[in-house]
Amino acid sequence: MPEFNRRDFLKLAGLLPLGLAAPTLHKSFGLQADKKNVIIIVFDAFTAHNISLYGYGRQTTPHIDALAERATVYHNHYAAGNYTTPGTASLLTGTYPWTHRALKPNGQVSAEYTAHNIFSVFKDYYSIAYTHNEWANTLFEQFKENIDMLIPREQLTLFSSDRLVQKVFPNDRDISSVGWIRNIKIQEEGYAYSLFLSRIITALEQKYSAQYRAQFPRGLLPTARADGGFLLEHAVDWIVDQIQAAPAPVFGYFHFLPPHDPYRTPLEFAGRFDNDGYPRDNKPIDILATEQDRARKMGLDTLRQNYDEFILYVDREFKRMFDLLEKSGQLENTILVLTSDHGEMFERGIAMHDTNALYNPVLRIPLLIFEPGVNKRTDVYQPTSAVDLLPTLAHLSGLPSPQWTEGILLPPYLPVNSPAPRSIYAVRAYEAEMTDALTQASIVLVKGRYKLHYYFGYAEIGGGDLIKLFDVQEDPAEMNDLSQSQTDIAREMLQELKASLAKSNAPYL
Ligand SMILES: [Zn+2]
Repeated sequence: MPEFNRRDFLKLAGLLPLGLAAPTLHKSFGLQADKKNVIIIVFDAFTAHNISLYGYGRQTTPHIDALAERATVYHNHYAAGNYTTPGTASLLTGTYPWTHRALKPNGQVSAEYTAHNIFSVFKDYYSIAYTHNEWANTLFEQFKENIDMLIPREQLTLFSSDRLVQKVFPNDRDISSVGWIRNIKIQEEGYAYSLFLSRIITALEQKYSAQYRAQFPRGLLPTARADGGFLLEHAVDWIVDQIQAAPAPVFGYFHFLPPHDPYRTPLEFAGRFDNDGYPRDNKPIDILATEQDRARKMGLDTLRQNYDEFILYVDREFKRMFDLLEKSGQLENTILVLTSDHGEMFERGIAMHDTNALYNPVLRIPLLIFEPGVNKRTDVYQPTSAVDLLPTLAHLSGLPSPQWTEGILLPPYLPVNSPAPRSIYAVRAYEAEMTDALTQASIVLVKGRYKLHYYFGYAEIGGGDLIKLFDVQEDPAEMNDLSQSQTDIAREMLQELKASLAKSNAPYL
């Protein structure tokens, strides 16, 4: 096949069942089998604040707590954004949101990062990507030139008519899929060419999902398009199979929706924290809490309990994936990362993560790195950022760190500890277009023990500026605003933040 290069062939092979295609590929292409696999597991909206490993009062992660004895555990790891689009894009590009510009919901990164991302860094690996999350998938679509196997979201939903039709017509997938969509599948407008067959399919879907309903008393888990729901178990099993069958080394990025809302934990965990005496939230309502947030205030503690019970499901399935990888021998040759794209919060009148207020529960996320042969725990307390993961994984894989990343090597891999505390940013500019200078935004700067909040352009604060300063080491709950008492520190940090903001705005003025 002289007209095919390796990448073309692997991409083509990605269309076939990997179990059949992969062993041949492994031999004929002689990939760098001595390199370790790199697998990143992202659980969406998984805040460090509600994880028992990080000191939360409820035992939400008993399995992860135990596995951590074999990992490097980061205690002050910050997402670079507080919702999926900017948070995921920062993880995947190693740059801050004001640099990659995926600022608004379902946005994409600027053209430069189409070629500059984690998949391009690991271009000589067999790369696999999957997500339940439609907005994360929008980013994958942008990076797909460098993804060997981009798994369709429908692949791991409970009842996918797309998957069914491909199974029934394995030799005519393209034609059968188009025919199916035109003739049978109910379109968004609510009709299909064949009303009769469409009804049968809907009834079949309902019958198929019925067997799972008893397991999920709060409802089945929907993906964004609610295509029949999904089970985390299926995603875990399927992905472990792919990792085993794929030609080594594998670079895998798997972004699962739980514990993102709706918090529909299985029967096993529903009600686990009922009447456990966990204290109610009593923080004052924040000025940036929206009307919608305030209306929800009564339900914050219930929402938080449901979220905590949903984390138990994530914890169980991560443990199961870990064990499957270990039993299959894959773990001996795999750097495994557990993290999230952003946090979640239930305080100050604000629920979940769609908020302009950047308190630590929406920013602090878990980060655990498991390396082959490492059986001891290392704890890292210095503040670290999601943008650091890309250069660190490149380093651990013997690859050059790209010039364009804004991250640095994570401790303990950082060769020399720099004496000055490092500056870490998180940025939210929900309304900004890709080429807008930021005129309304929430930005935080974390430096050593201090965290500066800077808000500007919001109606709630009269369109002006709002500054808060916290000593997050002494006051991790961010209750005692020091901006009026530690004025030197506040002024210095604000100057630094504004200089970085001006630099990021410069190309768009
Ligand atoms: Zn997310």
